[in-house]
Amino acid sequence: LRLVSVRKVYGDADNAVTALGGISLSLSGGTFTAVMGPSGSGKSTLLQVAAGLDRPTSGTVHVDGTEMSGGSEKALTEFRRSRIGFVFQQFNLLPTLTVLQNVTLPLKLAGRRIDRARAVAILNEVGLGERLDHRPAELSGGQQQRVAIARALVTSPKVIFADEPTGALDTRSARDVLGLLQRAVHVHGQTLVMVTHDPVAAAHADSVLFLADGHIVGHLAQPTPEAVA
Ligand code: ADP
Ligand code: ADP
Repeated sequence: LRLVSVRKVYGDADNAVTALGGISLSLSGGTFTAVMGPSGSGKSTLLQVAAGLDRPTSGTVHVDGTEMSGGSEKALTEFRRSRIGFVFQQFNLLPTLTVLQNVTLPLKLAGRRIDRARAVAILNEVGLGERLDHRPAELSGGQQQRVAIARALVTSPKVIFADEPTGALDTRSARDVLGLLQRAVHVHGQTLVMVTHDPVAAAHADSVLFLADGHIVGHLAQPTPEAVA
């Protein structure tokens, strides 16, 4: 994932808010980066722009060597569905679908073959191989987030964005989820970017970026909870 001089300004000239003031960064495959910063520092905007959910005002975003920030809306959607995975704070599983159907849905949306065996293998990996036919409401929060991780992995995306993935979980489930994310990145070689407020969660990353007022103001390699706090 590469960002070059990414600026994002909301509003018009009279009430412009500069959410990102010119962010450049380069994150290679197999790395796990946490993004921290106070409320309003630009974390959500960074995630949305880097993930192609919103466009930068200027600057470029590149995933796997392809510039994502140009092109039509349709091309951007297709690119996102094939190369990018998401994990949200509130899981965002579809309540009427089973666990297995939730995990195969991204394959369907990407126009790929519905590879049930692959989905089952990934669900086994996250410890939910026995829950294929359950609905999300029948699972704990930690289990739902593990389904969401399986859903994010099923298309083998190049980059996974996680927005406060442990924010709704108890300490133990949070640790399980972070362990799974860590393993996914290190085993499958994805680039993982996680926004979090939690120093313990951030310490699972390989490095932490600190944002303030739309700028990267710090970087910490091999973080510990104490150093992050
Ligand atoms: P958090 O600090 O948890 O990221 P925010 O309140 O900053 O939550 O943002 C939540 C969402 O609301 C963001 O995705 C952002 O796009 C949107 N948002 C934040 N501030 C504004 C605003 N001033 N006007 C419109 N939308 C906003
Ligand atoms: P964070 O996620 O760190 O809380 P955000 O990215 O949500 O920060 O917000 C960064 C700045 O941009 C804030 O000043 C916020 O109010 C503003 N902002 C975010 N989204 C919007 C929006 N859709 N419209 C106007 N201002 C926004």
